[in-house]
Amino acid sequence: MTVILFALPAFFILIALELFWDWKKRTGHYRVNDAVTSLSAGVLSRVVAIGHQLIPFTAYVIAYEYIALFELSNAWWVWVVAFVAYDFFYYWNHRMGHEMSILWAAHVVHHSSEDYNLTTALRQTSGALFSWVFYLPLAVVGFSPEMIITVGALNLVYQFWVHTQHIDKLGWMEKVFVTPSNHRVHHAQNRVYIDKNYGGVFILWDRLFGTFIPELSNEKPVFGIRGALKSFNPLMANIQVYSRLARDSYYTSRWIDKFKVWFGRTGWRPADVAERFPEEKLPLNVFEKYDPKLSDSVKKYCVFQHAVMLAITVFLLLNISVLGASQVLVLSATVIMCSIQIGTVLSGSKFALALEGPRLLVFPLMWFASGLGDVAIVFGALSAVSLTLLVYVIRKGYIRRTYTAADRRSNTSQITTEL
Ligand SMILES: [Zn+2]
Ligand SMILES: [Zn+2]
Repeated sequence: MTVILFALPAFFILIALELFWDWKKRTGHYRVNDAVTSLSAGVLSRVVAIGHQLIPFTAYVIAYEYIALFELSNAWWVWVVAFVAYDFFYYWNHRMGHEMSILWAAHVVHHSSEDYNLTTALRQTSGALFSWVFYLPLAVVGFSPEMIITVGALNLVYQFWVHTQHIDKLGWMEKVFVTPSNHRVHHAQNRVYIDKNYGGVFILWDRLFGTFIPELSNEKPVFGIRGALKSFNPLMANIQVYSRLARDSYYTSRWIDKFKVWFGRTGWRPADVAERFPEEKLPLNVFEKYDPKLSDSVKKYCVFQHAVMLAITVFLLLNISVLGASQVLVLSATVIMCSIQIGTVLSGSKFALALEGPRLLVFPLMWFASGLGDVAIVFGALSAVSLTLLVYVIRKGYIRRTYTAADRRSNTSQITTEL
């Protein structure tokens, strides 16, 4: 956690550089709605992790203390072995995350972006509560819990830079490491690329276990998932597949299928529910990104709210050890509500925009009531500024829905703003 927190400034500098390059070259790799959702999902995953982040460490400590086979030192070569071994287990964790329905339901968040840029790296799930089980063998062998947590964080930090379209193939590195090119393949929904390139740091595992494919010059990756999310609400990104699985499991008639819906191969559905609840998967040649058209003033408002939310999150994570339980709860609720609200506004909900008013009035009261003192004054002032902006945005125009032929095909609502 600490490693990732200290890597954050570098992440944001690199995102700013990529954004500048995108603007200069007009490559169109960034959209406000998609990028904000990616960052919101990342923030959400960190805040939700406050509630369960001690579980993996505790499990590693118990395994290390009571059943470790060896007592491995802190020598540099042990760190190197731990780093490589962690990536081996990451490969299998990641592969299972794609190939088993219940695990895909959690991992899908990372793949729900239809863009591919450095913010996509931060689009992380809040639901991978049991992925630590895959790394338990490291503690059983005798790697210390601190070492496992640290190499795990380094593994995650490495994966940040590969989420870009600005770096082409990298010669010999393609053979050994996960690179932007071979990870673009992993995020593509083209049939030939599906369930390929699971590696975290080393692509060697994919070559070894038959899941490697290079980025093909005649097959441009189309990013996203076949069953599109069609929402910028990070909560929806986290629950969408779970809710589909729960529905299928409830309505399917055979008891064995109720179990297989969750633990079977991703994509498999019992025939009865597949017929009753058909899921449309359009061919890629008519694929259109989900992109409700909002006015610039609404987008700018959302970006400002997102920046305030990031500031609150950084404050929360840096001060977690000195904050009281009620303060942690209030700040977590602030971040969660804000990310859901902004995501819903970006999805084109005028109602969600109207709900911003009550949100901006109620949360400052909760900050003061929880005893946040001066911090509450700073956040309260930001809420006052936000309210002013909200009034300006609402007065500037209203949102109405119109449907184009393409929208009716893809069931995507196109939203225009009249000024
Ligand atoms: Zn994946
Ligand atoms: Zn990725």
